[in-house]
Amino acid sequence: MTDRRDGAPGAMLVIISGPSGVGKDTVIDALRSRQHRPEYHYVVTCTTRPPRAYEADGVHYQFLDRAEFERLDQAGEFLEANFVHANWYGTPRAQVRDALAAGRDVILKIDVQGAQVVKEEVQDALLIFLVPPSLEDLFVRLRSRATETADELDVRQQNAAIELARQDDYDYVVVNETDEVEAVAARIDQIIDEERRRHPGRRVRV
Ligand code: 5GP
Repeated sequence: MTDRRDGAPGAMLVIISGPSGVGKDTVIDALRSRQHRPEYHYVVTCTTRPPRAYEADGVHYQFLDRAEFERLDQAGEFLEANFVHANWYGTPRAQVRDALAAGRDVILKIDVQGAQVVKEEVQDALLIFLVPPSLEDLFVRLRSRATETADELDVRQQNAAIELARQDDYDYVVVNETDEVEAVAARIDQIIDEERRRHPGRRVRV
């Protein structure tokens, strides 16, 4: 049995999800540059994917080899673990739990399947789904990022259409309008503030 603990009253677990290439990282960067008291905790998740050139271990991800990932998974250390686009990804439970216990809102950026698993396990989690202005717009963004091989790009494009079809599973859907990232970050802050006002004493158990 996994040992669960209550977070501090009002501290929220906010899942930001959406298809690959929708701009989750850009939106999170914009959130980081806004003031929050106390500061949001941004979860550093684990992956078996090799780092991209600009990525640093412990900052963008904890990069693990397959054996270490499996060991942590079997020990129940992940709130959820998922195979996404041919690699493993997992959310470290202790990191989320500790930040909530310290009274901080926790921002978790994960894929659509992982978001569903967390929502099933943690009903009080708040799910925010980012969508592109259009599917074509998403494909253009994915191609221009040029971080994947042609085959990987195919997989991500197919997955994106499937993922967009699941919008109804989310508490809030936010359109990541092109060149409107500041407004999108402001909208996310507003959603978080409104939710907390609605449930001021809520304790999220992870
Ligand atoms: P990328 O390889 O582009 O960094 O991430 C691929 C996808 O995996 C993205 O949608 C990202 O949000 C998601 N992801 C990152 N960390 C986790 C995690 O811990 N769990 C799950 N389920 N997805 C994750």
